[in-house]
Amino acid sequence: MDSIRLLLSMESIKQVQADFANGHAHHAYIIEGEQSLLPQTLRILSCFALCSQGGCMHCVDCMNATKGIHVDCLSYPKNDDSPISVDDVNSLINESIMCPVISANKVFLVNATVPSMTIDWQHKLLKSLEEPPANVYIFIAVTNAGELLDTVRSRASAIRLDRLSIPSVVEYLIDNGYQPARSQVAGLLSGGNINKAEIVMHNQDGYEMALIVLDMFANMTSSSMSLEYLSKLMRYENKYNQLLSLMQAVLRESMLSRIDRSLLILTDDSYAHKLSIISSAYSDQSVVRIISLIDEARKSIDRGTNFVSTLDNLILKVLEVKHKCRI
Ligand SMILES: [Zn+2]
Repeated sequence: MDSIRLLLSMESIKQVQADFANGHAHHAYIIEGEQSLLPQTLRILSCFALCSQGGCMHCVDCMNATKGIHVDCLSYPKNDDSPISVDDVNSLINESIMCPVISANKVFLVNATVPSMTIDWQHKLLKSLEEPPANVYIFIAVTNAGELLDTVRSRASAIRLDRLSIPSVVEYLIDNGYQPARSQVAGLLSGGNINKAEIVMHNQDGYEMALIVLDMFANMTSSSMSLEYLSKLMRYENKYNQLLSLMQAVLRESMLSRIDRSLLILTDDSYAHKLSIISSAYSDQSVVRIISLIDEARKSIDRGTNFVSTLDNLILKVLEVKHKCRI
């Protein structure tokens, strides 16, 4: 799924589109969401105001708006990596009194995702939000709406981008050129957050960890083998949360591979063989029990218990439960 389709499928975005379609659009919107989706979100929202059909996504207005080159849409700051400044807002105010060139409306996109050291720009913007010139729409993107002044917030309609499903995150990563097998692991570790998924993608650890965990559950048959896996996994001490989440996710995936393959995230062929071994070696009852043992291990490490000894213990218990609750 490309990011445009992904965003258009969100209820929060559909609501803004409906506002424009029904003639109830607010002059200003605050959009809160994760940073990597916001620049594209702003451009899509501008289509709703600039397109004569309320955001068809096919006309010249929509095409130019999604590319960020529509003559009646101005974006601030000029560089996405900078914080918004008073100069940016001064320019917005000056431009807002000029008539649109080709559309019925004029749109201003304010990307305030880079924290600003001052709130001067917000004070400056207030006037435009209080008395917006006719046919002017302002969209302000933030990662945390709580950082905005109450007075700014109260003069705009606030929306929050929907949390993504894991399959949507995976699809987004694959569509952006990432390898499917790695994208699926990143999706599992993302919690529905694309920023998080991209961090996992750029770091080898998540994927390597997944391969070891799959191998461990598939091939570890006796306590004499547990040391081998312990020595492979103990280097992830500073990522224990990720490691434990991955262990739980792999077990759930193994269960799904037996119960309902349509819900599976690790669908890449490279995972199929190991998942089927795990699924035939661990009963549903043992998976449920081990998942709760992993929760206990996490709490214990959170409280300061030694990581290696907790992991060692956990691996031995996994073997014990596997043996006791045989299929
Ligand atoms: Zn259009």
